[in-house]
This record gives sequence, C-alpha cells and structure tokens, in this order.
Amino acid sequence: MNTVSAEFVISVASLSQCPAGGLPEVALAGRSNVGKSSLLNRLVNRRGLARTSNTPGRTQMLNYFLINQSFYLVDLPGYGYAKVPEKMRAGWGRLIQSYLEKRRELRGVIQIVDLRHPPTAQDVQLHEWLKYHRLPTAVVATKADKLSRSQGQKNLQVVRRVLCLDENEPLVMFSAQTGQGKEEVWQVIEQWST
Ligand code: GDP
Repeated sequence: MNTVSAEFVISVASLSQCPAGGLPEVALAGRSNVGKSSLLNRLVNRRGLARTSNTPGRTQMLNYFLINQSFYLVDLPGYGYAKVPEKMRAGWGRLIQSYLEKRRELRGVIQIVDLRHPPTAQDVQLHEWLKYHRLPTAVVATKADKLSRSQGQKNLQVVRRVLCLDENEPLVMFSAQTGQGKEEVWQVIEQWST
C-alpha cells in the first residue's frame, strides 16, 4: 500500500471516546516492548509517529492513527509488563477486552510477537481469546533482523505451533529495522480495511 497520509488523531481511555464516523479499524496488539510502535512507524514510513521507547507500559490508552483518510490503525496498550500495579493491569485488560468485544468498526487484529522467543503465556491467551471471539487475526513476528535466516524460519514454526495457528491464518516474519515483511502486513490490512 502506498501510504499517502498518516496522522495521530486521539488517545482514548474508554469506548465512548472512540471516534465516530464509522471508518474501519485495524488493531495492533502485543506485549509491552515487543516492537509495536516501531512496526507502526515502519508501516507508514514515519519515524516519530508512534513513540518508541524503552519504557514498557508507557501508554495505557487506545491510540488512533488515521491512514489515508480512509481507516484507522488502533494501537492497543501493551500487555504483560510486570512492574505495573495489579489494579492498573486489570483496568487495561478491561479496556482492551471491551474494545475487542464491542467495537463494531473493528475489522481485524494484528498480534505482534517477538520472533526470537516462543510466544509467552499471555500471547497464547490473547490469541485463544481472539479466536474464541472469531476476530480475524494475523500474527506478525518481529525483530527478524536479530536472527539468521534459518533460525528465523525455525522460530516461525515455533510461533505457529505454540499459538496453534490454522494454515490459513496469516503469519508474517517482520523487521522494523529492515522493512522485511512490510508489504505482507499491508496486504492483510488492506484486505480488512477496504
Ligand atoms: P513497543 O513497546 O511494543 O511499542 O516497542 P518499541 O517499538 O518501543 O520497541 C522496543 C525496542 O525494540 C526498541 O528499542 C526498538 O528499537 C526495538 N525494536 C523494535 N522493533 C525492532 C526490530 O524489528 N528490530 C530490532 N533490531 N529492534 C527492534
């Protein structure tokens, strides 16, 4: 996809604050520090659009980015950061859950995992939950540049196995550093958002 425009629109802390207008939405989900902001920046070729930071758990809100004036990419709060107080974590869970369950504009979820490691228990839990709710899902395994080609391929099979992906469920090897996999991710997003 040719990204003509990408702009940050709003951060919301509850469903009632989500934009009106009915444009399609594609959500990005993953644990804190997995590389979600870097992926978003790379997708739209805008370095500073989504803030990247080494401080996991930085954001607790849903962040809306309007792409080509035609759909939203919605950056969900990262999960699984141990230092966040239990009470806050539960709050995030509720926001993500109600968004994923109730937001009618939502067309699909890109779940981001780290290609270097097997998916975590929380990655598995989220994936099972998405499946249970019959949400279209694509898994993107990022940081591929940190592995050799053959190790990357091996780890990709581990991701497929641990998340119990169906054969027709998209699984993309990605690197925000090199741009590997970018076109494949756009293909999935385009399919959902048009
Ligand atoms: P977020 O918390 O999920 O938004 O993660 P960030 O995008 O802030 O990335 C966390 C760290 O991983 C940062 O230091 C990034 O530079 C690094 N990172 C993210 N994606 C990649 C990638 O594809 N390759 C490499 N080598 N580093 C990455």
